[in-house]
This record gives sequence, structure tokens and C-alpha cells, in this order.
Amino acid sequence: MCGTDRILVNKSSNNESIPNNEAYINLDHGDPTMYESYWKEVGQKYSVTIPVFQSLSYFANIKILCWFLEPKLEEEIKRLHNIVGNAIVEDRHIVVGTGSSQLILAAFYALSDPLNELDPVNVVSAAPYYSSYPEMADFLRSRLFKWSGDARCFDKDGPYIEMVTSPNNPDGVIREPVVNRATGMLVHDLAYYWPQYTAITSPADHDIMLFTVSKCTGHAGSRIGWAIVRDEKVARKMVKFMEINTIGVSKEAQLRAANILEIISLSCQKHKPHDLENFFKYSHRLMVQRWKKLRDAAKNNELFYVPKFPHRYCKFSRDYTETYPAFAWIKCKEGIDCEKLLRRHKILTRSGRRFGSDPEYARISMLNREEEFEVFVQRLSNIHGTVNGN
Ligand code: PMP
Repeated sequence: MCGTDRILVNKSSNNESIPNNEAYINLDHGDPTMYESYWKEVGQKYSVTIPVFQSLSYFANIKILCWFLEPKLEEEIKRLHNIVGNAIVEDRHIVVGTGSSQLILAAFYALSDPLNELDPVNVVSAAPYYSSYPEMADFLRSRLFKWSGDARCFDKDGPYIEMVTSPNNPDGVIREPVVNRATGMLVHDLAYYWPQYTAITSPADHDIMLFTVSKCTGHAGSRIGWAIVRDEKVARKMVKFMEINTIGVSKEAQLRAANILEIISLSCQKHKPHDLENFFKYSHRLMVQRWKKLRDAAKNNELFYVPKFPHRYCKFSRDYTETYPAFAWIKCKEGIDCEKLLRRHKILTRSGRRFGSDPEYARISMLNREEEFEVFVQRLSNIHGTVNGN
């Protein structure tokens, strides 16, 4: 949506964007640059070097179903889930993807029926839903699956795929399936089921669960996601999709991701290196601070409503916590187009419309760099009064 926007930024010596008074703050994408501060602290010591003679082969481990999955990455994925307690990994298949985005498509493919091309399987998700699902389902006009909108309005017979995103993007709500019919196939998108965002109440145990380093560690640029799949046949079809699509996933990216997950696991341990702060404690603290600043900026402002979240017991942190979503799902007063209003104040967000919701809503990323976030809350606190015609 921002292709036509003029985004003015100063570049610092290390190429970071520092907003000036004229600059638009781009909070449209959930670009997780917030985590840079942690990784800069961690520093060079934990860098990964990949020698030129390594990883020439297409194959990583021909003994397992997902033959392009680096054993080290599989090991670190399982270790981290066991430490955090957010997903069951024992006796499950891990399928690695170029981001969880590729795995969403792999799941659509795996759950559809190639013999039933006259009747593509319906893909639904409860509104407000992640804005990429409709695009992913319909972009290539597949004869296997098609987007069928808000799961709460779904009334067709036959098989369907429901995307269950929890905590949800855009609104941070903890979700369950809503259609609940025997013909349904579920894909649980758990990109945000990590302790910095929400309480880890129990290990998730679903047929297909999707995770990504993008929102866990902030390394969106590595493009590594993984699916935890119960059924072997489904996992095989997902692997087939990956084979046709990209013949696997970059080994360099997998090895780097494995290293990053290893550091995080190490940081969570009791006897960790003294210079390594617990990653989830650090990032949770940052999220708590940001949500407080956001609430303070919107306090006494009748134009905006910032949602509240219940406290739940987190088994990972052994404490009660609210949800601190990666996005703020802001509602403006009736009749105000929230995205347009914020744009006039040089804050770029994503309109509620894109999520199957109303223009009174806008989704705002909470994951930008600190300097940008500070300018955002400053600008937000300066928006007052009634707005004619938005
Ligand atoms: N699912 C959800 C709910 C997301 O918010 C995102 C990223 N915005 C993705 C999947 C895709 O993540 P990635 O491709 O970076 O792994």
C-alpha cells in the first residue's frame, strides 16, 4: 500500500532509519527490527561462519521425510519448543520453509484434493484475519483451493481449511476454530505464540502448526519458518510442494537460524553465559514498555480505543502476564477512517479493510526500532479533537 508514499528518512552511519519531523513512520509492515538491539548486545561472539565447501548439495538428510531440513535446525527447533513449552514436537514431522509464508501455501496444497478440481477447497479464517491469507489463497487462481472469507459467515457444505491464528494477527486475541464441522481441516498459525507476546498456557498440539523465526527472534530476513505436522501423508505433500516450488530451503539460512535458536535456548538456561540476557525476558520487557507507552499516548483521547487483554498464567515465565501483541489493533471513533487519519499525521498503518474488517480499525506494528516507535507515540499523543470528514 505504501508504494506511492514518499518516505523521508535520514540514514545513520550504520544505515538505520532515523525519522525526522517530515518523515513518515512506516508501521504498516510487521518488520521486527525491534529485536536488533538484543542482537547487537549479543554481538560478534555468536556469529555463524559457513565455509565455502559446506552445503553444496541439495540434500541435507535423506533419512528423513523432509530431506532438505538441516539436522542442526531440526534439533534446535525441537529444543526451543521443549524449553518454552509452546508446542508438542515428539513424534511429529518438521517441514522447513522459506518463511512460514511458503508453508501456508504448502499446507493449502497438502490439504486439497487434486482429483476434485471442479470444486476447490474453501479457505476461511475468522475476521479480522491476517491480510495475506486471501492473497495467498487466490493469487495464482489455483483449481485446488480458493479464499472464502470470514469463517464466521461460512455456510457452504464440503471440505474447508480454516486458518486459526493465535495470538491473532491483527488483534492479538487468543483463538480457537470457529466453524467446527467434521469436514474441516485446521492450520494453526502460531507465529506469535512466544512468551514475549503472550502467556504460554500449554504446549500446542494440533495437526498442522506453523512457526517462524521472523516473529520469534526477529530474523525475518533469514526467511525461515517451520511446520510441525502430525500426519505423515500431509507432511509428505507439503515436502512435495516445497520440492516443486524451490527444491528445498537455503542451507545457509537454515544454519544461521539454527545458530540463533541455539543462542536463545542457551539464554533461557539457568547456567547461561553471564553476558547473555534471557531473550524472552528482554523482549517481553520491551513489549510491556511499548504497550504502556501506547496506552499513555492514547489515554484521555476520545478518538482512539486501544484494546485490553486478560491476564493469564504463563508456564514459561511462571508468572501472570497480559498479551502484548506484535500489532496494536486500534479502533477510531465511529465514522473515522483510522488509517487515513494516522496517515495525515505521517503514521503509515494498515487499514482494517485489509483484514476483512471496518475502516474504523487500523493495524499498527509494535515491532519497529526504538527511535521510530518513540516518534510514533509522540505523534499519536499529539492527535486530538474531532476530525471532520476524517
Ligand atoms: N503468519 C502470520 C500470522 C504472520 O503475521 C506472518 C508475518 N507477518 C506470517 C505468517 C509470515 O511470516 P514469515 O513468512 O516471515 O515467516
